[in-house]
Amino acid sequence: MTITQELKVKSFETRLFINGKFVESSDGGKFDLISPTTNEKFAEATEQDANAAVAAAKAAFPAWSALSPSEKGVYFKKLAALIIESHDELAELEAMSMGRPVSNYFESYVAAESLNHYAEAGYQALGTSSLNTPGFVNITMRQPYGVVAAIIPWNVPVLFLIGKTAPALMAGNTVVVKSSEKAPLTSVKIATLVEKAGFPPGVINIISGHGQISGNVLSHHMDVRVVSFTGSGRTGRLIQQAAAKSNLKNVILELGGKSPAIIFPDANLERAVKETAHSIQWNSGQVCMANSRIYVHESIAPKFIELFQKSFAEIKSGDPLLPSTNHGPQADGIQYKQVQAYIEEGKKAGKMTIGSEPSEQKNGFFVQPTVFLDTPENAKIMKEEIFGPVVNINTFKDEDEVVAKANDTEYGLYAAVYTKDVSRALRMAKKLDSGSVGVNCTSPSGARDMPFGGYKASGIGREGWTVSIDNYLEHKSVLIRVDEE
Ligand code: NAD
Repeated sequence: MTITQELKVKSFETRLFINGKFVESSDGGKFDLISPTTNEKFAEATEQDANAAVAAAKAAFPAWSALSPSEKGVYFKKLAALIIESHDELAELEAMSMGRPVSNYFESYVAAESLNHYAEAGYQALGTSSLNTPGFVNITMRQPYGVVAAIIPWNVPVLFLIGKTAPALMAGNTVVVKSSEKAPLTSVKIATLVEKAGFPPGVINIISGHGQISGNVLSHHMDVRVVSFTGSGRTGRLIQQAAAKSNLKNVILELGGKSPAIIFPDANLERAVKETAHSIQWNSGQVCMANSRIYVHESIAPKFIELFQKSFAEIKSGDPLLPSTNHGPQADGIQYKQVQAYIEEGKKAGKMTIGSEPSEQKNGFFVQPTVFLDTPENAKIMKEEIFGPVVNINTFKDEDEVVAKANDTEYGLYAAVYTKDVSRALRMAKKLDSGSVGVNCTSPSGARDMPFGGYKASGIGREGWTVSIDNYLEHKSVLIRVDEE
């Protein structure tokens, strides 16, 4: 891909950020970031580097955890302001590393908003008291765990970096972040901003590299007390095994999805089409909660499908650095091949009506948004996460049938229901096995103060403004005998 306009990014950091300093990896090892626009070599964190990052976080813990919420908040606000100032650069870096169009980059704003929220939220971390045991006044204390490891994916890295780091830090923990080998650019940029914001050395460490070595070292590490992970179910399982084999650290897992959207005959059809098409196309379908299965009532299916295809046909794919582009390539060759393999599978099972031939001629890993119709429910593309702009549209006759179909996967991250009937909407919300249910909206609609996470194999635990600080605090019961006079 050719860069077609003047960029804000002139150069970028490629080293590890450990104990407040940028350093090369201990053995000088590097990994290639092969992306649509750049081919850079990044320092690959070794076992020694991951250990050094944990040791730095451990050493920084006593002083950091002793600060008041307002004292910690000062750093958060500085970092938030620096992130906003760097919006254009962050957008370009994400476009360079994983092909994300700059035209709809918003993560910097959400990250800054989260930092500003957590800057003020620390005083909510309170224990309880109880007079329920005769002769005692009992209290609970909430205390940080120590070192938290945040292992993040490549699809919206800045959101995950801040969404895990800010509450963990505000709770008094110190953090080691491992970014994804596919998208390290924005995480290293955030490390430069952490340095500028003046966080004490070791409080936030950010390392780059593959899961195997550094991610694996962190999840087995005896001094890491919590791993907060977002990524695939395969890696989530490995992390849980590592926790079990090492120190039984707490594990928060935000994993994949195969989200259903259900469209009833009384739905606002235009809205349902627009939003369900956006859900599976946005970020080239590389979104955990994207609605990859749409169930439309048979009475409105022909109209829905016609409008849906029209909406997909209007998508503008191309250079993600151009403001006119709203559809970029898949993040890399591995993702591209994986999506193409699923499309080939789909062709054997269902009917492809609009979609793609491999299009490497654009010098990038582009997949044209693809629709499959009438795919058997047990087909691989109905059960497995494709992580690309590929959607199955099937029909249904009644509520019981569609609930059974929607729930028939091992995932349960986000489900959507479009109907004007309130009772039906709430009946469906109750019956769907899903951590979030959208009524007359679909993913990526979310709410900052609602817990986000998965039923079934979509994860363990919840994240969000009202729950995340709690994830990073231990409960301690203190039993105090009070002598009678
Ligand atoms: P991935 O599991 O391949 O990688 C995620 C992170 O784990 C990366 O940093 C990777 O280097 C690291 N890793 C890999 N092997 C490891 C190991 N053995 N030990 C420790 N760390 C290891 O996932 P991905 O491809 O980066 O992301 C896509 C997946 O993430 C999809 O399944 C998607 O649904 C899921 N996801 C979930 C959410 C959510 O909130 N539920 C959000 C975004 C993405």
